Amino acid sequence: MLWGMANEQRYDAVVVGAGPAGSAAARGIARGGFRVLVLEEHAQIGVPLHCSGLVTPRTLVEAGVGEGMIVNAIVGAHVCVPSGRTLTIGNGKTRAYVIDRVGLDRALADSAQQAGAALMRGARLLDARREHGGVTLSIRRNDALHTLRTRLLIGADGVHSRVAKALGLSGPSERVFGLGAEGVLPGSDRDHVQVFVGNDIAPGWFAWTIPLGDGRVRLGVGSSGPLRPAAAMRRFLSVYAQRLGGWEQRRLTGGVIPIWSRRATVGDNVMLVGDAAGQVKPTSGGGIFSGLAGARLAAETACDALAKDDLSERALRAYAKAWEKAFGREFRRGEDLRRLYKTLTDEDFERMLRIFSARPVVALFNRYGDIDYPGGVFRRLFSATPALWALARGPLRYGRLWR
Ligand SMILES: Cc1cc2nc3c(=O)[nH]c(=O)nc-3n(C[C@H](O)[C@H](O)[C@H](O)COP(=O)(O)OP(=O)(O)OC[C@H]3O[C@@H](n4cnc5c(N)ncnc54)[C@H](O)[C@@H]3O)c2cc1C
Repeated sequence: MLWGMANEQRYDAVVVGAGPAGSAAARGIARGGFRVLVLEEHAQIGVPLHCSGLVTPRTLVEAGVGEGMIVNAIVGAHVCVPSGRTLTIGNGKTRAYVIDRVGLDRALADSAQQAGAALMRGARLLDARREHGGVTLSIRRNDALHTLRTRLLIGADGVHSRVAKALGLSGPSERVFGLGAEGVLPGSDRDHVQVFVGNDIAPGWFAWTIPLGDGRVRLGVGSSGPLRPAAAMRRFLSVYAQRLGGWEQRRLTGGVIPIWSRRATVGDNVMLVGDAAGQVKPTSGGGIFSGLAGARLAAETACDALAKDDLSERALRAYAKAWEKAFGREFRRGEDLRRLYKTLTDEDFERMLRIFSARPVVALFNRYGDIDYPGGVFRRLFSATPALWALARGPLRYGRLWR
């Protein structure tokens, strides 16, 4: 018999997915005194890896599992346009950490278990249906099918969320395909990331290098256009052959970044968190911080709803409202920035770099730049730099971004 199946009503909440958002949500609900089970389809937590592991110091505070997974500290960025011209931003202050992402996922899964959540690895959710005031789950584990019942189902199952599909919540409006690699790059700057923009190498997105501080680098490219990520990666390596000279690839990772404009994150007896809920910055694809924050907010509402035994969509909407309060404006600005970004030609990138290179503009970046909340610095930049308006076409010119 499958562990935990003796009593069908055993769990107050089942969380699907032991990524950062799932483990954080499970931890929060278990700390509230409820019986929680996490289902993870893979045998090992955090594997396979699909992330570059660049996070802000604030993310590790939100994760609450210490700093043991920090690999390197980042103080700034070199932003490179197609002509090769580069702008450096940063003022020596640590802006981000490069982390061992598998280590973060494991630490979070451990903390959820320490809080009392049960974890079942190698258990894949196949289907979920609402019945009798709860949710019945069909899962596959060790080549056998099982059913399980819960009062509340939390979908933390990433971009291809099976929970969202099964319970009729919508999917992303846009997908960005990313390909990342880890390897050795001789002579790489040890504390600056590099960002490469250009429609030839990364249409609708960008390419990046992130130093690990010991000569190793995580390098990647994203594409939202017809250019496939593998082709984009080949082009990136060839266009920047000189700058990336001596690159020796050791490990390849890939993944999809979901971009939503607006979506439902709750229904009767169900909540979505993390990538499954579209809690990913539309400008950079970073989703660890916002997913962890979303999980915390979801757990707060879940504890309240479980205690009151009201798991209706109406009751769970408190979570959607809390998310809107915390991130709504920031994400709307991010969506506007993304819409603007997708219209930029390579000539626009050159013009933008020239504008951004002015000393007062760099000073604005250094003073107000925040990886988790990029909307604020761009709003200031657009207010302080009228020349930027020429790059904003059509309705964006009068859009929300500048308010
Ligand atoms: C190339 C790339 C680079 C990135 N780099 C960064 C970065 O540097 N910084 C940053 O902040 N973000 C980055 N991201 C985004 C970040 O990886 C995600 O936002 C983050 O992993 C989302 O966490 P999550 O817990 O919501 O989902 P996930 O981490 O995707 O976890 C979902 C879990 O659910 C499990 N699962 C899925 N379906 C089922 C099922 N049916 N049954 C059981 N289990 C299931 C999966 O196995 C997985 O463990 C990157 C993404 C990509 C693609």
